[in-house]
Amino acid sequence: MEQLTAPAAQQVRPPATHLRSEEAGSCLGPDTGAAGSDAGVMGSSDGSGTQDAGSDAGVMGSSDGSGTQDAGSDAGVMGSSDGSGTQVAGSDAGVAGSDAGVMGSSVSAEAGCIPGTGAKAEGSDTRSLPLHAELPALCPEALFQGPEAEPYMWFLRSHHCYAAVPTSSKLLVFDTTLQMKKAFLALVANGVRAAPLWDSKQQCFVGMLTITDFINILHRYYRSPLVQIYELEEHKIETWREVYLQGSLKPLVSISPNDSLFNAVYHLIKNRIHRLPVIEPLSGNVLHILTHKRILKFLHIFGAMLPKPRFLQRTIQELGVGTFRDVAMVLETAPVYMALEIFVDRRVSALPVINEAGEVVGLYSRFDVIHLAAQKTYNNLDMSVREALRKRTICLEGVLTCHPHETMGDIIDRIAKEQVHRLVLVDEKNSPRGIVSLSDILQALVLTPAGIDALNS
Ligand code: ADP
Ligand code: ADP
Ligand code: AMP
Repeated sequence: MEQLTAPAAQQVRPPATHLRSEEAGSCLGPDTGAAGSDAGVMGSSDGSGTQDAGSDAGVMGSSDGSGTQDAGSDAGVMGSSDGSGTQVAGSDAGVAGSDAGVMGSSVSAEAGCIPGTGAKAEGSDTRSLPLHAELPALCPEALFQGPEAEPYMWFLRSHHCYAAVPTSSKLLVFDTTLQMKKAFLALVANGVRAAPLWDSKQQCFVGMLTITDFINILHRYYRSPLVQIYELEEHKIETWREVYLQGSLKPLVSISPNDSLFNAVYHLIKNRIHRLPVIEPLSGNVLHILTHKRILKFLHIFGAMLPKPRFLQRTIQELGVGTFRDVAMVLETAPVYMALEIFVDRRVSALPVINEAGEVVGLYSRFDVIHLAAQKTYNNLDMSVREALRKRTICLEGVLTCHPHETMGDIIDRIAKEQVHRLVLVDEKNSPRGIVSLSDILQALVLTPAGIDALNS
């Protein structure tokens, strides 16, 4: 922190002092899941084109200095999940060859993260429970208007995305000819959540592969524990995109490193996505994948030097920041397939998991679904959500919650410290009453003061 060029406290409008990217990057640290080593393009079928993408886009430097390799080849890079040394698989076949290692090493000691309550629940199909008493949303809009509310907006308007790019992090790039299953296993093996998709025929990035895509495939093609999901086992990424997404294929949403962080927040929220690749316009290289978490971390560290808007002292209930109606949740006894269905239908990023008494006992997020790939349990989506929570290997203990009377400032501090995407708002009986997500927080801190409602438009 001491190395930073601090913007003057009263200087909240541009031109603001720009943080040097190396300083910001090193202060922010590598992004989550960045341990390990470089990455390259996975699954080139012809080798052409991916060479470029590999050398340009793949290598981001080793964050721990171990096991770096040339990602410039069209080879897939498969890291062992303990981060100790990586290997270059020579080709698609190399990726397949690593499967066993991936599976073996990614399953570590079970942590028993969310304690099962043991409570029995019949008819566990509840998908979205009505709230008994909705919180009064006293939204004093005036608190988010005027110069006093604007420091975060101006701060992000006056800083480039480049400032939030870490000095080193891991980046995986998938060729669209890679098989789906291998792609998801590679995400698991490398501890990353998403990868840009490189189309070697078009010689450009055409989309992203995220855990939501894994969920969509499972949801669409799962039949029963006895039937293999052929589409997941055999299809290439490009087949999935052509068959499933035909007509609704979203063009890649990306941002230039010279664009403002304000615009990054806008794109993330407006497009309802959680991964925004930062692409260098001249070279076409992907430098990093920005997320809400990364931007909040940036704001939390560097925004500490800015004058504090009054709304930070108001309670979440007064401000109405978050979702307090029709919260999507799932019973702990419901089958995992049900949770996937809610993810697909409601497009929410996580579900509070409740027991029969309506108390929150866990949180099942889209990220947690990747454990099904890690443990090859995606063929049994009839297992209960409680069991799926227990089987997770990387997770937080318990549920991170907040209460209606807590201030926005305290909630931001907690969510930034815990590095999660949301807190579950609970009442005195520990029943979920709402969700306060990073989308809600960034909308309120940055976009609302600019008069933009990207979340609800
Ligand atoms: P997750 O929360 O699982 O990481 P996202 O919410 O980011 O997933 O993704 C939702 C859907 O949007 C997925 O089908 C994903 O492939 C797609 N997607 C994600 N990021 C982008 C992007 N930058 N451009 C275009 N599509 C994207
Ligand atoms: P992402 O980094 O993909 O946005 P999430 O923050 O949704 O991921 O989830 C990362 C991990 O943290 C998951 O195991 C998820 O269950 C857990 N997690 C996220 N939010 C909470 C919460 N409020 N309480 C407990 N665990 C949480
Ligand atoms: P997110 O996808 O978490 O970035 O959030 C996008 C919007 O969906 C925010 O307004 C959240 O409050 C809302 N949201 C997230 N999870 C849920 C949920 N389980 N039920 C209802 N709304 C949710």
